[in-house]
Amino acid sequence: MKDAPLKLFNSLTRSLETFEPVHPGEARVYSCGPTVYNYQHIGNMRAYVFADTLGRTLQWKGYKLTHVINITDVGHLTSDADEGEDKMERMAAREGKSAWDIAAFYQEDFERDLARLNVQPKQHPRATEFVDAMIAWGKNIADKHCYELDSGLYFDVSTVDDYGRLARAVTEDGEGRIDTVEGKRNAADFAIWRKTPEGETRQMEWDSPWGRGAPGWHLECSVMGENLLGFPFDIHTGGIDHREIHHPNEIAQNQAYCCTNGLDNAENSGARIWMHNNFLVERSGKMSKSSGEFLRLQLLIDKGYHPLAYRMMCLQAHYRSELEFSWEGLGAALTRLKRMLIAAERLSDTQPGDPSHPKFTAILEKFDAAISDDLNTPIALTALEEALSVKKVDAGVKRAAIERMDAVLGLKLFSLARTDLRLRPADASVTEAEIEAAIERRKTARADKDFATSDAIRDEMAAKGVDLMDGDPIGWEWKLG
Ligand code: AMP
Ligand code: ZN
Repeated sequence: MKDAPLKLFNSLTRSLETFEPVHPGEARVYSCGPTVYNYQHIGNMRAYVFADTLGRTLQWKGYKLTHVINITDVGHLTSDADEGEDKMERMAAREGKSAWDIAAFYQEDFERDLARLNVQPKQHPRATEFVDAMIAWGKNIADKHCYELDSGLYFDVSTVDDYGRLARAVTEDGEGRIDTVEGKRNAADFAIWRKTPEGETRQMEWDSPWGRGAPGWHLECSVMGENLLGFPFDIHTGGIDHREIHHPNEIAQNQAYCCTNGLDNAENSGARIWMHNNFLVERSGKMSKSSGEFLRLQLLIDKGYHPLAYRMMCLQAHYRSELEFSWEGLGAALTRLKRMLIAAERLSDTQPGDPSHPKFTAILEKFDAAISDDLNTPIALTALEEALSVKKVDAGVKRAAIERMDAVLGLKLFSLARTDLRLRPADASVTEAEIEAAIERRKTARADKDFATSDAIRDEMAAKGVDLMDGDPIGWEWKLG
């Protein structure tokens, strides 16, 4: 089989680049993780489905993967640009719990969502475990690159070359810069260490040469990336919002720490490639965590959708395109997943054979070319569907080819059951067992040509919000009306 070179879009150079690992045979990836002060919305989860697809693609290409998704449990302020309150402390005060408990609770919820989306296990270091290393880093760069204000230690962005190259524009007032910190030398300067104000205490605070306080958010990722993956590592990912402030600041810290110069050499940034997923958007604003019923994966599940329908929805769009969320779109993704599952079901009793069969060579090459082209999952999905529809071929061979592709897409085609994909809302007035029993009674009635009873059963179910589908082309028998 032909093996296409892996091309990835590097936000730093705004171009497609061929992936060359820093360490032969290995791929080391750092993905900015969640701030665990609240549940994640499904937009956040798009970032991790993307990161996971990248990781799986690197494995498909034969690299041994080390992948970190950090947990921000301290330091992230309500504005990305160092103003406002610490998100963790604010939520702790609001809920009357300790910041540590809040962090543990939402980290667990986040990890549950990752597992539901079939994101492969990764390393999840917590920022609070690296505070000593952050202080050491701060000491290292303080003389040449930082200055102290009453509120803490700040990084002077004019001390490194090419500050803001990743964002392509350094705006004077930045994004959402409310309450600008008094005394900053440049608007874009940011906190390395935030001193606890006189007379106050924080739940999460540590002693440092710059007073008792907490580390800045940007510092965390530089320190955890360097500690766990070593500079330069291969790929750094995050949502597109991080291209503007968080990642330029991380890069500036990395340049300062490593004493490197400008960014014409990408490695000076700490990573060879910086990748960013575009946003999941929703017209009515339900993505915002401040809205009552914000779009969490759990809400999708409560409405009856299997979480992998959401993974499918993500894969149907290229990661660099904006993706608009709609319930219809989610329903369509679910239907597509069901069709694939039905096709795969026929192979469920087979042992996988050797996938290098001529019938699959072209399909596997198409699949490889697609994901190697900056993770073109929309095309990769069509290749998978082609494989599923190949006829008159040894079932084991077919299964092996499909398993290989599914290892990249993560749709669990051989471990999901049809019933897993049924729409089953948490608040339904009818249980699945009742529906199954009604279907059985109706089958019997129809076999007896008792159409009156059959229709009555259908109406009875319709009144409970369940449509029985006689002519359902994919044989799903019922859906919620
Ligand atoms: P946060 O917890 O705010 O730091 O965000 C976690 C991750 O989700 C980051 O990589 C963000 O860039 C990403 N993100 C935030 N909102 C969205 C969205 N609507 N769509 C896709 N990714 C997002
Ligand atoms: Zn980060």
